[in-house]
Amino acid sequence: MSLQEYRAKRNFAVSPEPKAVVRHRKDEEELSFVVQKHQASHLHYDFRLEWNGVLLSWAIPKGPSLDPTVKRLAMAVEDHPVEYGGFEGVIPEGQYGGGTVMLWDRGTWEPEGDVDEGLRGGELKFSLHGKKLHGSWAMVRTKGMPGNSKRESWLLIKHRDRYASDKDIGAEMPRSVASRRTLAQIAAAEGGDVGKAAKAD
Ligand code: MN
Repeated sequence: MSLQEYRAKRNFAVSPEPKAVVRHRKDEEELSFVVQKHQASHLHYDFRLEWNGVLLSWAIPKGPSLDPTVKRLAMAVEDHPVEYGGFEGVIPEGQYGGGTVMLWDRGTWEPEGDVDEGLRGGELKFSLHGKKLHGSWAMVRTKGMPGNSKRESWLLIKHRDRYASDKDIGAEMPRSVASRRTLAQIAAAEGGDVGKAAKAD
């Protein structure tokens, strides 16, 4: 795993985002996951799973759904540093991903099966232990192959279990899991575009 693409896209003299450090952790430590609500040029949710010292990352325009009949498009994006899982704030306008970032959910995840095989084969099964997201999920690739320069498309799907539901988790639990703030409150506190952020709240 490499953070070369992450590093190349960003100017750390201007952006407060974490620097590109690969963090290999001890085997016994739990794997982290994070979902960030990101009001950039378009609102989306960044879904990240810690693996091999980085956060595997997907951009999900509509965010996760608890309804097993709903498949949410998830575009693979560049790996992010593990420290990104602690980032909430404002990326300055004009920078890559410029806009307001909220820690929408976080916790730990557990693979269901072999992760590297799943990534190669295009079907990753796992459970999430977050504050908002729980239970068993699948990420299924629909387009593109690993190592291709073209972006891969995946679908995030909730498995049927006791955490499946038809409630709109994005609308019902819109605030930061870290600070309880709305996007507009984060933007106001950190020098972001409050109007843009408020529209996404
Ligand atoms: Mn993003």
